Amino acid sequence: MPEAIQSSKVTLIGFPYDASSSFLRGAASAPSLIRQALFSPATNSWSEVQIDVINEGILFDAGDIVTLNETCVREQVEDQITQIFESGGLPLSLGGDHSLTFPILCALGQRYSDLTLVQFDAHPDLYDEFEGDRFSHACQFARIMEKNLVRRLVQIGIRTMNKHQQIQADRFGIEVIDMRAWERGIRPALGGKIYLSIDMDAFDPAFAPGVSHREAGGLTSRDVINAIQILPGKLIGADIVEFNPTQDSSGITAHLCAKLVKELVSRMLQNDLMG
Ligand code: MN
Ligand code: MN
Repeated sequence: MPEAIQSSKVTLIGFPYDASSSFLRGAASAPSLIRQALFSPATNSWSEVQIDVINEGILFDAGDIVTLNETCVREQVEDQITQIFESGGLPLSLGGDHSLTFPILCALGQRYSDLTLVQFDAHPDLYDEFEGDRFSHACQFARIMEKNLVRRLVQIGIRTMNKHQQIQADRFGIEVIDMRAWERGIRPALGGKIYLSIDMDAFDPAFAPGVSHREAGGLTSRDVINAIQILPGKLIGADIVEFNPTQDSSGITAHLCAKLVKELVSRMLQNDLMG
């Protein structure tokens, strides 16, 4: 590991991998476009609570892992996240498709006890298998729960629940705050160590058109930014997944991803203030 990582609290790492997508490919090109938006002169590098997340030596960019190989991608990702953990860094991963969250949690779930996983998503991603693939981006939360990698899974923004996945959610004791509940003002009671997984299709397509599975009636940008800023607990890692640049002709989704990076880094640095 480069020396800079030792003094950096948050490590940005890109996983340009989309071979576990069930519908459209394209998410593999997301990490470089998110960085482009992050460093674009169209905006500055400060979070809303006035932390300069780029220029104060608090964010280490480990770059993209371009050697990812479909046959051993999960081992590769788990190994990368383990290295970041062992260096004392907090991983902020850029996907890639959502299947990546399973190997990330394999690394973190074994090292943190009592982890709460908060997932923003239009979809539960709880299939036992999808089109013959148990490691599809529609299955990773079933795999995580089977391995007891987290104490709680809280899903927010869901609006595609079906019978099979509801049975899975009940079986695993998952706390589902679907869009109807969110709109009624239901919020999760959180605390302790939190890992945040943000599937970009959690947002309404009006805010984030650059996804493979557009599902109307979703969260606003402000909903998720607020949640990042105020959710109680210690944020020990996060991922931003399922941004598909081939569906983002305006660049609006890339800039939303970059905004999320800034607010997530800022939030991770404030852990000691949040109790
Ligand atoms: Mn989704
Ligand atoms: Mn997902």
